[in-house]
Amino acid sequence: MTITDREKYIGNTIAGLTGGAAAYVWCPRIVTGQYVRYLNRYGNRFSTPEQHNIWNATQKSFQSSPIKDSVQLIDYNKSNWEPIADKLIKKRKEFLKRNKNPLVKLRALTWPTDEELKERMYVYAQGKNACYMPATSQILVNKEKKANAVFHEMGHALNAKGLGLGKILAKTRAKGAKAVPFVFGISMLTPKDSDDNPTKNKYYKGLLTFKKHAGLIASACLIPLTLEEGLASIKGGKIAKEVLSPELYKKVNKSNIKAFIAYFTSMVMVGIGTALANYIKDKVTGPLPQKSNNQEFIEK
Ligand SMILES: [Zn+2]
Repeated sequence: MTITDREKYIGNTIAGLTGGAAAYVWCPRIVTGQYVRYLNRYGNRFSTPEQHNIWNATQKSFQSSPIKDSVQLIDYNKSNWEPIADKLIKKRKEFLKRNKNPLVKLRALTWPTDEELKERMYVYAQGKNACYMPATSQILVNKEKKANAVFHEMGHALNAKGLGLGKILAKTRAKGAKAVPFVFGISMLTPKDSDDNPTKNKYYKGLLTFKKHAGLIASACLIPLTLEEGLASIKGGKIAKEVLSPELYKKVNKSNIKAFIAYFTSMVMVGIGTALANYIKDKVTGPLPQKSNNQEFIEK
């Protein structure tokens, strides 16, 4: 039994896709993941008095901010986490019931399950992270453990509820991030062009151009998210500067800058991962086998 060109190509494609997928997954994980672990271990630590100090300062600035009537600022902890999480899940279900758009229904398949969402909410309640929930217009911050993030989260709320660039970025950040796996998938499934017999098909040519720049396109998809994160820190930083002592303001700012670096490296590494994935896949798989054998036979 001999292995035909086609069988060999299919085998190589599987190997190339596997190797490429590993690069795509691990590039951001190794660099950004490592950096986040480093931040968790050695990043700015805020003492309990500092956390209280920040939280108290926020109360005043929140009451005089333009979002005071449209957004809720909540001390989110283990005592009140579940009803808030359940309300969010209920709200999501109602939204899906109301919305008849098939695209939204399709997109909902990529959403975290109720269980996953609840797990995520518990992370916020534990104070391991803080968030602004656009669906319920709530800023959720554990005041004992994560008050240092409250200005940044207020920045997110200001972006979402304001006008201009912040609003545009807040609306597009999730869409951009969700497009990344599609950029990866489409570019990886586009076979490499043959050097001896380049394609004449204009659709395939278009796909090849897309594939060639897949790394840049993948990174570009994360620009709204990265910019929105930066803008949230800038807006939050402005409020923090007014109400915190200069030392504490500096510390909050530093920790926000470090968090931004994580988002930025993630944007870069997703691009590098996508480009490397395509490089590996093409090296291992090679171009589509040509039907040259038959032609040779005819020519002879
Ligand atoms: Zn953020």
